[in-house]
Amino acid sequence: MKTLSIPSLIFFLFFSSISISQNAIQDSIMLKKIYSTALTDGKAYDWLDYLSNEIGGRLSGSIEAESAVNYTEEQLNELGLDKVWLQSVMVPKWTRGFKEYAYIETNSGDKSVTNICALGGSVPTPNLGIKAEVVEVQNFEDLTKLGKDKIAGKIVFFNRPMQADLIHTGSAYGGASNQRYSGAEQAAKYGAIGVLVRSLTLKLDDSPHTGAMSYGDTPNSQRIPAAAISTKGAEYLSSLLKLQPNLQFYFKQNCKIWDDVPSFNVIGEITGSVHPNKFMVVGGHLDSWDLADGAQDDGAGVVQSMEVLRLFKKLNYRPKHTIRVVLFMNEENGLRGGLKYAEEAKRKKEKHVFALESDSGGYTPRGFSLETDAANVAQIRSWAPLFKPYLIHLFDEGYSGADIRPMKGNIDVLAGLQPDSQRYFDIHHSENDTFDQVNKRELELGAATMASLMYLMDIHGVK
Ligand SMILES: [Zn+2]
Repeated sequence: MKTLSIPSLIFFLFFSSISISQNAIQDSIMLKKIYSTALTDGKAYDWLDYLSNEIGGRLSGSIEAESAVNYTEEQLNELGLDKVWLQSVMVPKWTRGFKEYAYIETNSGDKSVTNICALGGSVPTPNLGIKAEVVEVQNFEDLTKLGKDKIAGKIVFFNRPMQADLIHTGSAYGGASNQRYSGAEQAAKYGAIGVLVRSLTLKLDDSPHTGAMSYGDTPNSQRIPAAAISTKGAEYLSSLLKLQPNLQFYFKQNCKIWDDVPSFNVIGEITGSVHPNKFMVVGGHLDSWDLADGAQDDGAGVVQSMEVLRLFKKLNYRPKHTIRVVLFMNEENGLRGGLKYAEEAKRKKEKHVFALESDSGGYTPRGFSLETDAANVAQIRSWAPLFKPYLIHLFDEGYSGADIRPMKGNIDVLAGLQPDSQRYFDIHHSENDTFDQVNKRELELGAATMASLMYLMDIHGVK
């Protein structure tokens, strides 16, 4: 290595520090413009209003999902991007049918109606419904302990609450979600005839929360119906079971699984000025559950992602890399859109360097969770002072987002927007995930935070 003389070393350090600080000044000016434009001249909230109130819940394979594809494609076309197109993908189709009905029948014959909803992907009950005794369990180990003798012919009731002392509610959700996803598959092995799952929320209320479930490789003839019961219903059922272990539970649902149907991911891009063949992706998922508008999950992520590209156009920022917005279809009950996008990127040998997802609600942004190597984590953390004025401070390593993760292994950096998570699971997958739950400023701050990270990744590149 060539050694520098003292005067040239001083000269070098002086000018490199000037260029570093000039970069930082330029970056901070750009971030200020991004936040100001998002907060004073934003479009995300209007888009979300339309998606939520004019279109509504967008379950894969539904008319509403199709309308959302058409609407977002049209809106992206209006932004004057270099390219907007639809990427074909086959998606599962499941319909709920008429509203579910359930009651608890005590030993004296008294019936109390209870709020339930079918889990996404569940089979229906027989036409007359099912009525049976209930076995309450906390986890799959309890099933093994009880065995077939105590479970066969009954309804298994999974009642393990989300852990309340975890600050990141996403972790609490993750810790309880196997009951919903695999409860029916596991209980069927012991001869259960149905499954009830405590809704995955920390809030005590009467609204059941749906969500995806799987039967694994259980043969069709052995698949049992599965429903979520509201948290208040779960508490009530549990307390009654202590007094009357042989009470009966009745429920009826007529959901249906159809053949797969064609649908689309919606994609728009601004072609890179320096690296047109290096791609940076920002996205959320266009589909939602059917019980509400899906405004937070994930209408918010969709419009925030669209807003990132709109802000760049509005500010006349021409990115170095090609920046794509991808509105993924079918995250909720199949992830087919995310899988398709990753598969196509690999097939076309498109070099993806960065992807950012928003799928944790449009609440006040706190930062990002990152899936990448130490060098990229360090670079992103070095931008913390630029984010400080906007109260963005989390740059943790952790789960990025379901739709972008299929690219893992073929991409340098994956990131997920981390908004405040305390209220998200109050409404997640329930009838309460509606437009009025979204605060305009919080939504816009999230979009600006995403655009800021996208700008910094674009201008400085990945490590
Ligand atoms: Zn989601």
